[in-house]
Amino acid sequence: MPIVANPGHVDAALERGLDGRGVSREDALSFMRDAPLGALLHTAAAVRDRFKGRSVSYSRKVFIPLTHLCRDYCGYCTFRADPQVGVRPYMTPDEVLAVAEAGRRAGCKEALFSLGDQPERIFPEAKEFLQTLGFDTTLEYLAAMSELVLTKTGLLPHSNPGLMGEKDLRRLRETNVSVGLMLESASPRLGRPGEAHWKAPDKVPALRLRTIETAGQLSMAFTTGILIGIGETAEERVDALLAIGAAYRKHGHIQEVIVQPFRAKPDIRMALAPEPSNEDLLRTIAVARLILGGEMNLQSPPNLLSQDYPDLLKAGINDWGGISPVTKDFINPEAVWPQISSLAERTAKAGFVLRERLAIYPEFMPGPEFTPAPESSSRPDFIHERLRPYVRKLQGGDGYARGESDPC
Ligand code: SF4
Repeated sequence: MPIVANPGHVDAALERGLDGRGVSREDALSFMRDAPLGALLHTAAAVRDRFKGRSVSYSRKVFIPLTHLCRDYCGYCTFRADPQVGVRPYMTPDEVLAVAEAGRRAGCKEALFSLGDQPERIFPEAKEFLQTLGFDTTLEYLAAMSELVLTKTGLLPHSNPGLMGEKDLRRLRETNVSVGLMLESASPRLGRPGEAHWKAPDKVPALRLRTIETAGQLSMAFTTGILIGIGETAEERVDALLAIGAAYRKHGHIQEVIVQPFRAKPDIRMALAPEPSNEDLLRTIAVARLILGGEMNLQSPPNLLSQDYPDLLKAGINDWGGISPVTKDFINPEAVWPQISSLAERTAKAGFVLRERLAIYPEFMPGPEFTPAPESSSRPDFIHERLRPYVRKLQGGDGYARGESDPC
């Protein structure tokens, strides 16, 4: 239980947080350490209600794990794999298309490409496969597969390929309506031997912040977030959220922030590490809401909290993330997604309306045929011109998915 060190200060800080424009580091630290949980959640939920109303969104997606090869060895990862005899290092174009097509038939509108980071830099098998198809890098192949899925199925690609340079981002901007890179942590300390990001050169926080910054310069709608319970301190957690908030205030391009809890699994280096408690998760989500302010879309995946997931709404989230009716969660394969019908039911029971959104949020799609949120009218154009017809086909007048699919 947190110790209430200075109730007067905490009350004043919560009062300041209520305006939904962000809070100082000092106030955020007092929320992490001292604020009574009930009062903190109440404040965060009030900010969410005022800026986002009672709608909670999700994206109907199909998950495309383009490659499990990765040059990093994060201590909590079950997704990555080293090359194996008899296993193709990447999905082939036909396989990619088959999965995307199954998603389209199931009413999905987002193709989520998830993959390891730059495997061709350490695995000759990866390089060889790419060269056979005429590519030098995984990110080039990803761009080609995004193009294939977009043009053949009309699904809107959203890619999470790890670090991206300016050239990579520019290329992906032509096929992806948004891209993502979890900051996870702003602490370089986690890269030390034995820590979660030991032997994970792509998890250097400064490099990840550079990708986020470059995407901002290119006006690309961006998803990021933090992973909690991987050895970071409360201060480091707050600093990661502040770094995300600073990038957002500079470029306005961060469309959503995910707060994701670490989950222990048998075959990982951190198999015996303690998981963050539900209280810790709720507290962190509420602090994220108050640091990032009322305009930010805040997400936490429902499948990582089992039956208690509606509690996440009490902490100020307004999005459940991508839910797949056809593919499992490849990052947390043990945690099944709730059925969309049950998600709608439980969201309604908590007093909210479930809305289906696209891989780009309504307020990130300006233009005469769309209705941008009032605060968003001065935002730059986040969508490449050639993607507009594809988005227009799937987006309704209020920016959510057109003719929202029946829950299944
Ligand atoms: S979490 Fe991502 S970067 Fe880390 S090992 Fe897994 S796939 Fe690679």
